[in-house]
Amino acid sequence: MLPKVRTSDGFMIDWNKDKIIEQLIKESSLAKQFFDVAPMTKKEAGMVAHIVENRVIAMNPPFVSSPMVRELVNNTLLELSASEPDFLIYRNVMTRVGTPVYDAYKIDVGDGFERNENANLQNNPETIHKKKADLMSKEQYLLLMPPELANAHHGGDIHIHTLEYFGSRPFCMDHDLRYFLYYGFIADGLGYKSSVAGPPQHASVAVLQSVKALAASQTNFSGGQGFMNYTVFLAPYLRGLPYDAVKQLAQMVFFECTQTYIARGGQPVFSSLQIPMGVPDIWKNVPVVMKGRIGPDTYSSYEDEVRTFYKAIQDVSINGDFWGKPFNFPKQENYVSPEFFKSEYDDLWLLAHANVAKNGSQYFDNMIPEYRGYGNGVACYQCCAYNFSSNPENDEHFAEKLNFVDGAHFSMGGWQVASINMPRLAYRANGDYDKLLEYAQENMRKCIDVFKVKKMWMDAAIKNGTLPFATQRPRDINGKQGPPLVDFSELVYVIGVVGINEMVQHFTTKQLHESADAVKLAVRLLIDMEKYRKGLQMKTGMKLSLARTPAESTAQTFAVQDLMSEFKPMARNTIKGDLTYLDKVNGRDIPLYYTNGTHINVSANIPLAQKMDIEQKFFPILSGGNIFQVWMGENNSDPEGLYKLTKKIVNNSQIGYFAYTRDLTICSDCNSTSGGLLDSCPTCGSKNVKNWSRITGYYSDISGWNKGKREELLARYRMKL
Ligand SMILES: [Zn+2]
Repeated sequence: MLPKVRTSDGFMIDWNKDKIIEQLIKESSLAKQFFDVAPMTKKEAGMVAHIVENRVIAMNPPFVSSPMVRELVNNTLLELSASEPDFLIYRNVMTRVGTPVYDAYKIDVGDGFERNENANLQNNPETIHKKKADLMSKEQYLLLMPPELANAHHGGDIHIHTLEYFGSRPFCMDHDLRYFLYYGFIADGLGYKSSVAGPPQHASVAVLQSVKALAASQTNFSGGQGFMNYTVFLAPYLRGLPYDAVKQLAQMVFFECTQTYIARGGQPVFSSLQIPMGVPDIWKNVPVVMKGRIGPDTYSSYEDEVRTFYKAIQDVSINGDFWGKPFNFPKQENYVSPEFFKSEYDDLWLLAHANVAKNGSQYFDNMIPEYRGYGNGVACYQCCAYNFSSNPENDEHFAEKLNFVDGAHFSMGGWQVASINMPRLAYRANGDYDKLLEYAQENMRKCIDVFKVKKMWMDAAIKNGTLPFATQRPRDINGKQGPPLVDFSELVYVIGVVGINEMVQHFTTKQLHESADAVKLAVRLLIDMEKYRKGLQMKTGMKLSLARTPAESTAQTFAVQDLMSEFKPMARNTIKGDLTYLDKVNGRDIPLYYTNGTHINVSANIPLAQKMDIEQKFFPILSGGNIFQVWMGENNSDPEGLYKLTKKIVNNSQIGYFAYTRDLTICSDCNSTSGGLLDSCPTCGSKNVKNWSRITGYYSDISGWNKGKREELLARYRMKL
């Protein structure tokens, strides 16, 4: 006697074995699409359905639900996979993704699933909704990936970043603002859900639309959004405006960026603006794009406006918001190039360093070292310190893009990041360099295999029209249709490294700051990996880059994964953090971590010059991006001293990107901001304070950080000037 079946849409229907057979044949077609495994035959499906039916008869329940039938089918597939490996793939595509009721509840009350995975999110209804969607998406994308890649991620060989968006969107994007100044702004990309704005005619509209463009772009990309050359491209709109009006516009930029609290689960727009303080030489003779027109004048006529806009941005940024708290976005990317890094710009650099002294807020993109190849191309550092570039050597359409011919423009960004657990390579290599390199290459190939899956998803997304903002093709004021906003062929795949310090520590017994041989080993391996990257790029035709990973959570995840693996005896000797937790690995958010990228141990008590000397060596190798962090003590408030230090870094090192971090305490009672990580407010004595600092990319309230990052913050050795 067979029971009735309660369906997911709430009906009670008669048991029907043929329904199972139909479903198996239909859904196993995904096996063909994702794994190139033939779908189930009618005979195979019939066999599975027969086994399931017999089990239901044996159970003799009053009724069954369709999820329960599905589970019985999945169990059967799993059992059969012992003799028929393809059945494991069928199980992957047949199973459910989701979460137990208890876990979903924990998310509702602000706990549970990766509560502190992303420091830019705080609990609100949008975040709760996003977390639930993240859970489902992460599971789904891992199930639809070759099992050996999913295992490499789960097991801690590699980490696939922003997995929740793996199949739906590319990673980060730096836009060419001229596109919006020429074509106008369509928030939804198509113009049917949102209103369509023509090219901005006024400065305030141009500024507002620029921020809205970043916010809209976040709906199509998973990482940071930015604009290259922001001050230069907006300058023509500022002609004739008094300084107060320009400052008002700069204020709009900051408040709009930090109050457009809508993106991806309710968070501020993760944004970067490249802010040259004058017109870079390469742009001087390029025709201005504004109000839907190109030319006739060139950017060289707007030197004064660029300078004024830069000053206004700094003035606003120094003051911070109504509470005096620094703006965490947009990240201000200072353009350190030969045209501007000289004494006639001292006043502006000092202003930037007054900002550093008070808020730590500036980033410096140093294009002066020779390996940066400054002069004939364009480049930007953005998002969490990824570096992208375009130049006439690697782009045959460079000149058209520079001059905006027929709407040609720059798109710089990344498809996807996957990072390698570097300490584990050393645990496996056991002192043998050839093995170390071999394992590094093996993991790089795993990253490439992940990127190939990503590419398949993205090709489908573009074809299916699910990235309407990125693929928009608006018409200009003459009715001529432009090229798509994003040129996807320009995006790169990024292979990241985490824990170089612990890798050399295991291999040589010394950390980076303890021995020159340890540094040499790291440099040698990264150079060999970079060579291998070039080869892989040639072979696959994919644009690849090697970078340090801004491992907000990966540095902790890899450490925990190693402690839960066969590598535990070795990992316990290199892992940093609160070592009393080494034997208390119960869950993943514990205060242990590996060191970020190619950084030295954050607590190493060595002079800044020595830290610089070690870390600079990695910049020319990691073309995909790297960052040098200066952790400031509480008393480093002298702008001139800081500017001197910047000059040292710029002129005497290979460091291509750096930032100063000043810890801050913000009082919830009197709303004042003070320097240092304090337990109480120095102004009013309140204990109701929040500590702010920079995680790997931007400032945020540290209570939103994972325990590994908070432990690292406490361990940081701070500079004495
Ligand atoms: Zn106070």
